[in-house]
Amino acid sequence: MSTFVFIPMPAYGHVNPTLAVAGKLVADGHRVIYYIDETFRAAVEATGAEVRGYSTGLAEQSWQPQTGSAPPVERLMTRMLDTAEQVADDLQHFLSTVDPDLIVYESMCLWGKFAVMDSGARSALIYPSYAMAPGSSAARLMRQMAEKLGRPVVDPERLRAVAAKYGVSIDNTMEFFFHQAPTNLVFMPKEFHPDSDQLGERFHFVGPTFAGRQEVADFPVRDGTLLISLGTVFNQQAEFFRTAMKAFADSGPVVLSYGSRLSDADFPDVPANFTIASHVPQLRVLEHSRVFVTHGGMNSTMEGIANGVPLVVVPQMVEQEMTAKRVAELGLGIHLPPEEATADRLADAVATVDTPEYRERVAKMREAALGSGGADKAAAILTKVAG
Ligand code: UDP
Repeated sequence: MSTFVFIPMPAYGHVNPTLAVAGKLVADGHRVIYYIDETFRAAVEATGAEVRGYSTGLAEQSWQPQTGSAPPVERLMTRMLDTAEQVADDLQHFLSTVDPDLIVYESMCLWGKFAVMDSGARSALIYPSYAMAPGSSAARLMRQMAEKLGRPVVDPERLRAVAAKYGVSIDNTMEFFFHQAPTNLVFMPKEFHPDSDQLGERFHFVGPTFAGRQEVADFPVRDGTLLISLGTVFNQQAEFFRTAMKAFADSGPVVLSYGSRLSDADFPDVPANFTIASHVPQLRVLEHSRVFVTHGGMNSTMEGIANGVPLVVVPQMVEQEMTAKRVAELGLGIHLPPEEATADRLADAVATVDTPEYRERVAKMREAALGSGGADKAAAILTKVAG
């Protein structure tokens, strides 16, 4: 039996796809320990995995674009570097006590990356979204973002200095983010990923994974529901939600998740057909949904597809924009840029995708997603690599 240490980003969209994999490994008799923000303790422990927790505030951070402050991507990367400085020593000490057979981490979790690069421990990379490989679309997007920004997404001197403390030398900041492991798991079907054919055999497209999620049990859901959510990160958009309330006040049952940074008080006039909450049991709601108005987070996108639900994607950041374009290109839904998301355009977009043609294409992608192997395949690959 092997010991696995999982080091995902402390965000629901990153932790969620790993939970079913952890649950499967634990069921197979392995030991799985998450090195993760305390916020995720209950969700992780529900799978049977253990938690070595840290509390840095990273999980609660708002990434909303703000005038006068750096763009979200730059703030995020800088915050990842701050977190690395806060937790890397603790992680290295912890790893020396558990001596894992395999470290399963995300490229953006610099603390995991430093530990792996420094120790040469066996490792696998996980990609809850697009694979960050040299030449891949996601890598191109990241480069374009840096070019637009006119400076690297993170201060190269500071990154080099922190990395050097852990015996890691960095020549090129950008390349550093595309660093690869011998085994890479991508949680989407290869049919959805733009360059899947060119990425090579080290990339395994295992598709979405769903088991192992705790969901609120007593949430009422009716068939033919319209689900509206901007996810858990870039979601502080009271005005957008109020516009959606106008657009769908007479459109059958609607469930709206407004996220943890707003409250019921932001919505004094909720139409009678709306059920709103800061967090909804998304998987269960999607089982009863006709259309999903989403920000295009990769989990939400995959969850919509896996439930056969056409999408209206209103992206809140560049990666989601890439997904919105991919969804439109594959005919699985519509890309509606946030600045164009008036009540009329929203209503039109939902009516357009709520058709047999869209549903049929989504059903095909659903087959691909569910046929990709999911958590069982991911666990089998990791078990093999752990040796
Ligand atoms: N989620 C949920 N209930 C909510 C909002 C989100 O269960 O009310 C889950 C959703 O099912 C998904 C994750 O949170 O698994 C959000 O991840 P995604 O990649 O879609 O977006 P992010 O929140 O990272 O932007």
